[in-house]
Amino acid sequence: MHWKAVVLYALPTHPQATNVSITGRNETRSAATHIPRSEHSISRVNISPNALKVLYRLKDAGYQAHLVGGGVRDLLLGREPKDFDVATDAHPDDVRKLFRNCRLIGRRFRLAHVMFGREVIEVATFRALQVESDEDGDQHVDDEGRILRDNVFGDIEGDAFRRDFTVNALYYNVADFSIIDFTGGMADIEHGMLRLIGDPDTRFREDPVRMLRAVRFATKLGFRLDPATERPIKELAPLLGDIPPARLFDEMIKLFMSGSALANFEMLRHYDLFGQLFPLTEQSLAHEENHFPLTLISRGMANTDDRIEQGKPVTPAFLFAVFLWQPVRERAAQLEAEGQHPAQAMQHAGTQIIAEQAAVMATPRRFSLPMRDIWVLQLRLENKGRRSLRVLSHPRFRAAYDFLLLRAEAGEVPVSLGEWWTEFQETNPQQSEQPLSRTRPRKRRRNRPGRKSEG
Ligand code: ATP
Ligand code: MG
Repeated sequence: MHWKAVVLYALPTHPQATNVSITGRNETRSAATHIPRSEHSISRVNISPNALKVLYRLKDAGYQAHLVGGGVRDLLLGREPKDFDVATDAHPDDVRKLFRNCRLIGRRFRLAHVMFGREVIEVATFRALQVESDEDGDQHVDDEGRILRDNVFGDIEGDAFRRDFTVNALYYNVADFSIIDFTGGMADIEHGMLRLIGDPDTRFREDPVRMLRAVRFATKLGFRLDPATERPIKELAPLLGDIPPARLFDEMIKLFMSGSALANFEMLRHYDLFGQLFPLTEQSLAHEENHFPLTLISRGMANTDDRIEQGKPVTPAFLFAVFLWQPVRERAAQLEAEGQHPAQAMQHAGTQIIAEQAAVMATPRRFSLPMRDIWVLQLRLENKGRRSLRVLSHPRFRAAYDFLLLRAEAGEVPVSLGEWWTEFQETNPQQSEQPLSRTRPRKRRRNRPGRKSEG
């Protein structure tokens, strides 16, 4: 649905929030705009009943209770929110006393999770906006400007200004069903504009992951990046090098497994962010004169988006296999030139590239092992013949076959090879339907390559 159709409120004149210094001690904050129920489109029927329960119970106990973040943004845009987050002035211990089905999580900043079967409503206490250092002279940001501490309770206004984008900082107040807007988020929703709150350079330095979030929200919502938000990204992109590999893995999943993989891939490359996530891939794309690696990735992303659209499962192992295929091929060619047998060279290349990528992005073994299988099986799929029947029963045959079709689509191997395997499966259905676990114990072989542990 087009967002304009659902934003039903009279556009108030917003005091611009962009002049607010978010790290300066004497910041001037803008006055909040209250948009009454009659002037916006959020209706309780679209809010999860469990989120409403949490909001009402907090309110009845005398606390402030608001829906905030992606839930409010998505409801205003007529989209179905992924989840509902609640912000309150109740402290986590107070929240726990109100709900039996409640767990406190997080050591540094405690959040309450109120559990309703599989649905979790996250309840966060308002957090204060951080200044560079507090009265005791304690630093809140490091030398690069990165946030070190973000764990002080505060009021709703501070809570709004410490959020990332204006459209993510709208509060739906359960006391009167109004929306409270401190940062001009309503106007930005109206104009399809993604704007960082405060000074973009400062806010990206505080948390460089916000650059990835900018791309993700722009493609997901179909929003433009505000020019001031966009400007520093290319220059600051290298700051992603300091983000813990586990956090980058989580962001990578959100970027590539939510239905906008192709758009995110293209936009990340445009802003020089992709090379921060997949440096080996970026290198091979940069010096590759024939086009198939880029085509392979683009097709792979488009296929992933289609699968998600159709409700089919997707696995990070396949995505990684696509991204890293060209670096693996180049490494395998190098190892072969040094005298290794092709199968061995592929095993070793896979292991090496996985280890090098892991330095940037932590990839659990349950994904990296299947990924290497997909690569190694490519050699067996290229040699159709006597052993073909056995490949059919390999637990990763299906993924490797899909990967082969992608390579054929990208022009790396003949389309006829993919067709041969399609037909071969049809004529040998019993083999390909074998269960995933092996029916016969594998013969032990000495010196099996690729069995080394990963770095
Ligand atoms: P999604 O639909 O992907 O869940 P979301 O906006 O809800 O989008 P979350 O990552 O769930 O995103 O975060 C919830 C809210 O917390 C955001 O809307 C934003 O207000 C705030 N937030 C999250 N990450 C950051 C960050 N890195 N810096 C500042 N604020 C953040
Ligand atoms: Mg969310």
